[in-house]
Formats: sequence, C-alpha cells, structure tokens
Amino acid sequence: MTSASGSEPRFIGIDLSSPVLRVAIVNNDGRIEERREVRIDADQLLGQVAQVVSELRGVNSNIEAVGIAIPGLVNRQTDRVIASRDLPLAVRENLHSEFMKATGARVEIENDANAAAYGEYKVGAGRGSRDMFYITIGAGIGGAIILEGKLWTGASGFAGEFGHITIDTEGLECECGNTGCLETLASGPSIVRRANDRLYRDGTSSLSKLAINKNFTADDVAHEAKNGDDFSMMMIERTGKYIGTGVASVLNLLNIERVVLGGGVMDAGELILNPIIQEARRRAFQPCFEATQILAATLGADAASIGAAMLARDATA
Ligand SMILES: [Zn+2]
Repeated sequence: MTSASGSEPRFIGIDLSSPVLRVAIVNNDGRIEERREVRIDADQLLGQVAQVVSELRGVNSNIEAVGIAIPGLVNRQTDRVIASRDLPLAVRENLHSEFMKATGARVEIENDANAAAYGEYKVGAGRGSRDMFYITIGAGIGGAIILEGKLWTGASGFAGEFGHITIDTEGLECECGNTGCLETLASGPSIVRRANDRLYRDGTSSLSKLAINKNFTADDVAHEAKNGDDFSMMMIERTGKYIGTGVASVLNLLNIERVVLGGGVMDAGELILNPIIQEARRRAFQPCFEATQILAATLGADAASIGAAMLARDATA
C-alpha cells in the first residue's frame, strides 16, 4: 500500500565522517525530504544506525536501499573497509555485512570524499558535466575523480589523494610520511598553524583581529577575512594559491571538464575561490585551463549523505 506521493522509491543516505551521524531520506532526484542528526557513540554505532534507519522507514515505507559514507577506504568489489582512522576497530573490515545485518536493508558503503563527490556530481555543482574532479578542504584535504559518470578509484582505491601531492619540497613533514604535502599548507589546522607562526614573527600582523584570540580556528580566519581584516585576507589568499597550484597539476594531468571544491575551508567563498582560479590559470597549460570550470560546491554538509543515497540508488541499475 502506497500513498499518492510516496510510490516513488526513496533512499537513506548516512554520513559517518563527523562526530554527528547525519542521516537523510533522499528522493529519486537527490532532494532531502527528512533528516536526523545523532551524536555518534563509537561503541553503539551499529545500533544507532539500525535505530535511525528503522525510524525513517516508519516515516516513509518506500525506502529501497541505504548508502553510507565512511571516513575510510572501501574496496567496492568486495565491500570491505581497507583502512579507517575513525571507526571503532571491531566493525572495521566487516562494516558492510554488519550494517546489512543491523538494518535489514541493502547497503552500499563508500569513502566519504567519494560519496560527497558523487553527490555534487549528480545534484550539486558538478551537475551536467561528464568528468569532474572533486576536492574537499577541511580538517584534511581529500579528492575524488569521476570519469564518465563513475568514480575512478585507481588500482587499489587511493586515486584522488589530492591532499598529499607535494607543493613545497622543503616543507613540513606530513602524517603520510612525505614532506610539504598540500595538506600541510592548506587544511584548516594548517591555516591556523601558518597564521600563528606569522602573528608571532611579524610586528604588523599583531594589528590583526586574530591576535586578540589565541585559540582561533580556520573558520575565524575566514570570518575575519570576510570582515576585511588584511592579515586574514592575506592568509586566505595564500591558502588559495597553494590549492590553485595543486589544481593546475590536476588540469594538466586530466584536462578535466569541471573542478568542484567543497569542505569547511571553502566557506570563505570568493575570497578563496578567486585566488585558486587565478593560480590555476597562471600555472596550468592554457588549453587545459580554458577547457575547465572551477566552481564552489553547492551541497554544503549534505554532500556526503546525498551522494551516499545516490550511490545506493544507482547500484540498483
Ligand atoms: Zn601527505
């Protein structure tokens, strides 16, 4: 028995990449119809997912499948989780079958950056393009490649590790073992570190509003930049140049149609997008630059849950 508006299939998208479990009922067009947010309790994760899925099935009886974005690498052939820093150990490798058991639903799991990329590709800033490179810049920097409508994950699932391309050969050590990765310069924590170093060294920068608050975040830097604070504007602009340097390499390598940038650091808006585009233009092979569109993501924090739901939808086809 179905209601008039409810005969269409619906999908549940779940994002496990933040401390808050973000869950949504998503319709066939990628629109969120209902949402829930629950603080994740790592020891109760399976139960929490099972409970919210069952609750949402009560809201809409046409749930066809569940897509889950996780902060880890997923082998989509075997549905096994290869590596994850942030999930409880006990459920790591078998996460997929554990989720199937717990929810009684068909479940698709995918890496969070890949899921967000797919969301933007289907219903966000990537819509209408055939090939897209997605970049997320927040606490870390991730990337994903979509070619002809499909996520391209490489020989062992690591394709698109945009945060770990080398920008500064003399740079700081990165957690991946390399030095001078983009992530050591342009992630949220790296922006804070660079701003602190400079506030400490440079007399004129003590005039910055950031100097008042010793424990500022990357969001504060973006906020002060928007308010016209010169020092914060300079920090955001330099960050954009580092990212644009990486984007130029992507353009040269892939001659890709569209680049979409999301994540918290992009909340600085045009203040960061413009220097990214300028630097990419300055450094990329000109025909590659001219063939591409570089855009800010449009789905915000919903990208991964919408993308996971869309992956669950498209896996049926
Ligand atoms: Zn690295």
